[in-house]
Amino acid sequence: MLEKVVIANRGEIALRILRACGELGIKTVAVHSDADRDLMHVRLADESVCIGPASSLDSYLNIPALISAAEVTDAVAIHPGYGFLSENADFAERVEQSGFIFIGPRAETIRIMGDKVAAIDAMQKAGVPCVPGSDGPLDDDDEASLAHGRRIGYPVIIKASGGGGGRGMRVVHSEAALLNAISLTQTEAGATFGNSTVYMEKFLQNPRHVEFQVLADEHGHAIHLCERDCSMQRRHQKVVEEAPAPGITEEMRDRIGDRCAEACRQIGYRGAGTFEFLFENNEFYFIEMNTRVQVEHPVTEMITGIDIVKQQLRIAAGEPLTIKQQDVRIQGHAMECRINAEDPVTFMPSPGEITTLHMPGGPGIRVDSHLYSGYHVPPYYDSMIGKIIAHGSTRDSAMARMRTALMETVITGIKTNIPLQQRIFEDANFQAGGTNIHYLEQKLSDS
Ligand code: ADP
Repeated sequence: MLEKVVIANRGEIALRILRACGELGIKTVAVHSDADRDLMHVRLADESVCIGPASSLDSYLNIPALISAAEVTDAVAIHPGYGFLSENADFAERVEQSGFIFIGPRAETIRIMGDKVAAIDAMQKAGVPCVPGSDGPLDDDDEASLAHGRRIGYPVIIKASGGGGGRGMRVVHSEAALLNAISLTQTEAGATFGNSTVYMEKFLQNPRHVEFQVLADEHGHAIHLCERDCSMQRRHQKVVEEAPAPGITEEMRDRIGDRCAEACRQIGYRGAGTFEFLFENNEFYFIEMNTRVQVEHPVTEMITGIDIVKQQLRIAAGEPLTIKQQDVRIQGHAMECRINAEDPVTFMPSPGEITTLHMPGGPGIRVDSHLYSGYHVPPYYDSMIGKIIAHGSTRDSAMARMRTALMETVITGIKTNIPLQQRIFEDANFQAGGTNIHYLEQKLSDS
């Protein structure tokens, strides 16, 4: 097993990684900014290193500081968590060149998956269903672009190959607007991502977001851990996630999951990863792969009993996967609410001191959070302060447990989005299951 791991992240995921290391007997190094000295995992880690001032650019995104932290503490590996440098191929490369293990896929794999045109090409080769599109970059050949548009049918979406975070995309409703939209998106993509390559896809009007979790080791074994539904979103940010996804048949799950596992084998994938799909009219369309652990990984853990973070650590240590596909069985249903320090109506961030804290409990309830009473939520980072996960034998029982858990939770001193989560869990359409990615924003604009 790995002897000592640097946790190159903060907040709830840093604590989650620390807990997994603890179970495996791995020593931990917490790295933190000046503003994060009081984080729970910094207190619990075997060692801690301050890597810079509050600004993430100078701390959690500071590659030399992170590598020095690993050097001075004699760590052997670096876990990037999610966000920050987790999908930065240059970071993964620098970590490995400096003689440490990057807990994630190889740098080349991250690079391919960060380039959407290359990623789609790799997926098509493995038989993963993709959105009908230009199957490659759009160049200066206007006639060819117009022909793609006619073949695919409007509306279409022009996407930057190097895009991310929901940026670098433009929907086009008619042929008259196509060429102008392509050149605008190319210019923007060049300025924002340093890569002006764009491609075309059919624009799906009312899809759901359904994603498959995978695990792959260095020895050519890959499995999928079923799917999650993350359609409840606001501004492309997930708000509630669940597993399994309502209405997905076993046949669909096996078929798509097998293709994802096959894609992992073909690209030599290593570690945990997620294949994101849009799901519309009972069809799956691949949009991108995330090469890291996801915020919503607990819902998959709850229904499969598999600890994804421990698996990441074992895979990074070079161990072969011991779980076979036929061992992966769905038990019940799990839902996750992201808890954010923000105003539930205006969505303005609400940093500050937690004056009272009471977290929920009881059968089927899990809380992944770094909060404690007296903790000061800093204003510098993402507003997510934890996650409440409810597991039950059925979707209805998981929802009932979540409603009770939200009602029990007391967080004072700051505002949180718990009232919004309560509204979602009272919503009849959400309760019925299968709402699309626009549902939450429509609900919010109607009220
Ligand atoms: P990013 O890397 O910026 O997150 P994605 O390719 O994952 O980009 O797309 C982000 C979001 O944009 C998707 O979750 C979906 O809401 C929307 N989107 C992307 N492609 C399409 C498409 N072909 N049709 C409809 N919506 C799309």
